[in-house]
Amino acid sequence: MRSVHFAQGTRPLPTGKLDRIIKNGKTSRHVKQTIVTLDLEGVLVPEIWVAVSEKTGLRELRLTTRDIPDYDVLMQGRLKILAEHNLGIRDIQEVIGTLQPLEGAKEFLDELRASTQVLILSDTFEEFAQPLMRQLAWPTLLCHRLVIEEGKVANYQLRIADQKKETVKALRALNYAVIAAGDSFNDTAMLAAANVGYLFRSPESIQKQFPQFEPIEEYAVLLARIQAQL
Ligand SMILES: [Mg+2]
Repeated sequence: MRSVHFAQGTRPLPTGKLDRIIKNGKTSRHVKQTIVTLDLEGVLVPEIWVAVSEKTGLRELRLTTRDIPDYDVLMQGRLKILAEHNLGIRDIQEVIGTLQPLEGAKEFLDELRASTQVLILSDTFEEFAQPLMRQLAWPTLLCHRLVIEEGKVANYQLRIADQKKETVKALRALNYAVIAAGDSFNDTAMLAAANVGYLFRSPESIQKQFPQFEPIEEYAVLLARIQAQL
């Protein structure tokens, strides 16, 4: 029978740590592995619908999750406006194709991805995000999908409700420490579910309503805060 060799330097765990061992397997609660979840629009790229509003001249499309916290109300309103003005998916993709990530976003994300794992959690749609993801060197993005019928945006499909919050909960169930950053109402549940949450370039009204999350304006500061916790 072959004997088992332990790696040199492997020592029994100090007794104090034994109670922190999770019973089913060799997982240990004292392992700290960190993952970062970031919102997309307003944090790394401009608000897509605001850009569509500016290019099309449809002022009603300017409203975002900052203005209307209920995402379904917001989206149904957007779809109605698109239908009324006969705008198709191609028209919107054309506008998105002219957008660029926010200044410094690519460098921030590159640096962050070299330090730790990063997931982008967004309530946007795969059909919209692609040109921007290309410019950010294809980071991992979890978002939703549109229902396209004959070139028109007929509806949208949420893969799961509250996906930002649910993703963070799932990551924590995998024993990750989660650091999250976002700018808007639809990020606050994600920030609350994370070990640490930051409001990044958030309007003052949201900062006042959620004083438990530190507000940060600059990529360098956010990067430093995250790196200090890895
Ligand atoms: Mg946002």
